Amino acid sequence: MIDAAEVVASGMNILFVTLDSLRYDTAETALRDGRTPRLAGLLPAGGWERRTTPGTFTLPAHMAFFSGFLPKRPQPNQPPRLWECRPPAFKTVTSGTFVFDAPNLLQGLGQHGYTTVCVGGVTYFSRETPLGSVLPDMFDQDYWEPRFCSPELDSTRHQVDRALQVADEHEGRPLLLFVNVSATHVPHGHYLGDSHDTALSQQAALAYADEHLGRLVTGLTSRDRWLVILCADHGDAYGEDGYHGRGIIHPTVTTVPFALMLC
Ligand SMILES: [Zn+2]
Repeated sequence: MIDAAEVVASGMNILFVTLDSLRYDTAETALRDGRTPRLAGLLPAGGWERRTTPGTFTLPAHMAFFSGFLPKRPQPNQPPRLWECRPPAFKTVTSGTFVFDAPNLLQGLGQHGYTTVCVGGVTYFSRETPLGSVLPDMFDQDYWEPRFCSPELDSTRHQVDRALQVADEHEGRPLLLFVNVSATHVPHGHYLGDSHDTALSQQAALAYADEHLGRLVTGLTSRDRWLVILCADHGDAYGEDGYHGRGIIHPTVTTVPFALMLC
C-alpha cells in the first residue's frame, strides 16, 4: 500500500501516464509474449492489474482521474483510494489517502507546492477546439504538438522527449507530470502497414511505445524517486459482439490495464 499522503507531504514527484485506448488484453498479451520488455522491467510483480475505468472515452475518464477517481478493481472490496477530495463531515478517510481541499487533484497538488504539467496526445488535449481545452486548462502548463498525436508514427518519442525536458526544467521542485500517450489510440493500423485498426495493431503500437516509456521512467527515476501511475483511460472495441470504438459499455472498453509503483 502506497501512502500518497506521505508522498505529497514529502514533495515526491508524480508521473501519471495514460495509454490512450489501451485494452487490458492487448497490454497483458504483449507483456506475456515479451513484446514490451521495458515495461516488463518496470511493472510490479504480477504485471498489469486488470481494472475497470470510470469513463468510457477520453473526456469522462480523465475528468474522473483528475477528480481523484482511478480505475477500480473488478471485485467488491477495493483498496483505500490514493487520493480524494475532502469529503463531507460524516465520512472518514484512511490516513494513507491524500485529501485535497480543492475541486480537483491538480489544484489540490498546487496547494502543496506542486507544479502540474500536461504533455498531451489525443485531440482532447490539443486546444484545437473549445472542448480540446477543457483538460489542458486544468494544468499549470500544457504542451501539445501535431507530432504528439496518433497519426504520427513516432509520436511517443516526441512526447517523451518533451516530458523529459519538462522534468529537467522543474528539477528540485515538486512536479506532477502527466502524459497522454496517443500511439495506442486509433489510427494504429500503420504499425502493421495496414489501414485497419485491430487489437493486433494496437499491440504493435504498444510494442513501439515500450522503448520510449522505458526511457521516460528510467530517465526520470535515475535522479529521484517518483510515484508512477500507468493505466489506460478506456479500451476500444474492434468488432467484438458487433461493437466498434469507445464511449460504449462493453468489456473491451471498460476493462483497462493499471499499474501503481514507487520507482
Ligand atoms: Zn482516450
